[in-house]
Amino acid sequence: MNENELNLKDKLRDFYEHKKKETFLIGGSILLILSILLVSIVKINSKEVLAFAKSRNAALEGETITSMVYSGAEEMQKGPSKTYGKVVYLTIDDGPSEYTDEIIKILNKNNVKATFFMINGNMQAYPEQVKNIVKNGNTAGFHSVSHDIHKLYVSKTSAKEEFDTNQATFKKITGQTSKVIRLPFGSKPYTPRASYNALVDSGYKLWDWTLDTEDWRSTSSQIMENVKKYSSGSDNVVLLMHERKQTVEILDEMIKYLKSEGFEILPIKQSDEARNYWNGKLFSEEN
Ligand SMILES: [Zn+2]
Repeated sequence: MNENELNLKDKLRDFYEHKKKETFLIGGSILLILSILLVSIVKINSKEVLAFAKSRNAALEGETITSMVYSGAEEMQKGPSKTYGKVVYLTIDDGPSEYTDEIIKILNKNNVKATFFMINGNMQAYPEQVKNIVKNGNTAGFHSVSHDIHKLYVSKTSAKEEFDTNQATFKKITGQTSKVIRLPFGSKPYTPRASYNALVDSGYKLWDWTLDTEDWRSTSSQIMENVKKYSSGSDNVVLLMHERKQTVEILDEMIKYLKSEGFEILPIKQSDEARNYWNGKLFSEEN
């Protein structure tokens, strides 16, 4: 190896050493820039997520289920899809009866549940039907002993005492309790303020209705007409019907109609806020 060759080798080595450093520096810089970019993107995103979560929580704070359903329904009315968020509670009064099992069969076939407001004497006469109501996931509610406005309000606590009797009968049959009640003929105009207060103070949740099918004095087709007429334009319906032959005959068609109109059919839950004439929650979804 001569001197020239040695020089060339040194030069080549120097050259490659230099290149290595350069590559290292460029590579490092790229990595650094990428890391800075990545960190800032994550920062911006998490800021946005935080701000979104904050405003959302603020919007939800202090809202009741009712007002959420209301604002949800109102929001939907602005858009093209008006069906989302529509709810109907099927409530069936004056049972149980010889029709209860058939009603439950129709509910099950349509995969929906209802709320039964039962009279004390009928619970005693049809205990198996009371059990059947509960067993199939429906809500058991009470509908007094006397079903008579002249007896319900003889004293401040007489209505409350009738519902306590319902409670005892129901507990004896099913081992369960319920706080959901409906006053015969509704809570207005017959119910005095003191009677209403006594019920509420005892923890009872009083439900009136927004749609009367008038089934007790109607034919099946008239019931259907009433449902169509009174449910149109409404997004949150408490539908009143009774354990009557003509009602049972039209129930399947009624459920299918309500579903086709976009209603979700729900049973009243024990935790639901009561909706009645007194607390102003009855028509709160329709301003
Ligand atoms: Zn009744």
